[in-house]
Amino acid sequence: MITIVYNDIYKYHASKKYHVENPNRIDKALSAINQLEVRFEKPIRVNDPQIVHSEDYVKLVEKHSQLEENLDADTYTNKYTYETALYALGGALKAFETNGFALVRPPGHHAGINGKAFGAPTLGFCIFNNIAYPIKKYKLKRVAIIDFDVHYGNGTQEIFYDDPDILHIDIHQDPRTIYPGTGFANMVGGKDAEGTKINLLIPPLGSDDLYDELIPIIQAILDDFKPTVIAYSAGFDSYVGDGLSSVNATEYTFYNFGIISNKFPRKYAVLEGGYDKGLVRGLKAFLEGFANVEIEYKKYKSTDAIRSRFMNYLSEEKQILRNYWSI
Ligand SMILES: [Zn+2]
Repeated sequence: MITIVYNDIYKYHASKKYHVENPNRIDKALSAINQLEVRFEKPIRVNDPQIVHSEDYVKLVEKHSQLEENLDADTYTNKYTYETALYALGGALKAFETNGFALVRPPGHHAGINGKAFGAPTLGFCIFNNIAYPIKKYKLKRVAIIDFDVHYGNGTQEIFYDDPDILHIDIHQDPRTIYPGTGFANMVGGKDAEGTKINLLIPPLGSDDLYDELIPIIQAILDDFKPTVIAYSAGFDSYVGDGLSSVNATEYTFYNFGIISNKFPRKYAVLEGGYDKGLVRGLKAFLEGFANVEIEYKKYKSTDAIRSRFMNYLSEEKQILRNYWSI
């Protein structure tokens, strides 16, 4: 039985013009969730987003939301955005408390301390950083964040960059080919936290076989780090044909990401991206893995040329990782 944290308020944040990050995403996700054995929990509204973000940024969001002004070229607000984002933080908190999945909008992993993170051009549809909130609220130690959204979780990595207690493993499409343009293997964490920030790249057109190479590495690092909590920034935009990326992951990959969590005592997951098929098929497979349901999915393969590009990235990544981890 999986706990899903959800409230209809997550549909209130909406753009007047068509936007790919829209309330219909929730319906797509629910169509997958309703095929599984779940129980629903209501999120709470939090009143201290400042434990994650600067006071100025929180005020900026509140003001833009009142005026229904865009925060930047990618990121809209309406009069419900500020409230909805506070409930999204509360959704992540409730997911942590119930070992559950937070079906929230707006997403959060691009939102850094002051908004845009590491010089990103925009906030990439994100408002407040949901995955970070339970960690800050309960001052959690030894948390492993796994971010498999196809985009680099620059906001999350920035928030915890100098914190050696938070391991952040971010698997994303080669940033030379996709927003936000940062997130290479040489970003390993700040002084005294070196090695706890890990960026693993998938080239465009990469499929399940490449993700499959990463799973044992991630597992070895987790065994070394010994987290007490696994936290997922769960984005489904790497699913083949989802729309915003050129990576071709399928159910096989999402299921395997979910399965990793089962040997650890506490876990929670928060929805990030995913815009079309990924929100249905990818999410369902992830939740099956997350709930330790036994099922077999077909593994799809990349072409030899894509695989060899990936292997070049991986050998460079491994060289860096070996400075810090037994892999
Ligand atoms: Zn994404």
